[in-house]
Amino acid sequence: MKTNPKISKICPKCGAVYNVRPAISRTAEYGEICPDCGTREALESIGVDKEEQEKILAIIHRSYNIYVN
Ligand SMILES: [Zn+2]
Repeated sequence: MKTNPKISKICPKCGAVYNVRPAISRTAEYGEICPDCGTREALESIGVDKEEQEKILAIIHRSYNIYVN
């Protein structure tokens, strides 16, 4: 059986520590980013403003507790 050790990563975009599969930034300078930043970039690309992005992320966070701190 394949084990999946939890490895903490630091998001280069927002500095969050996370231990789930990273998202890939649409911006080449960042590379692998945290899922929140991935969600923000995706929402931004469809014209969702910052305030609305944070509301959506808050809803996601109620369902998933992925951050180390
Ligand atoms: Zn981030």
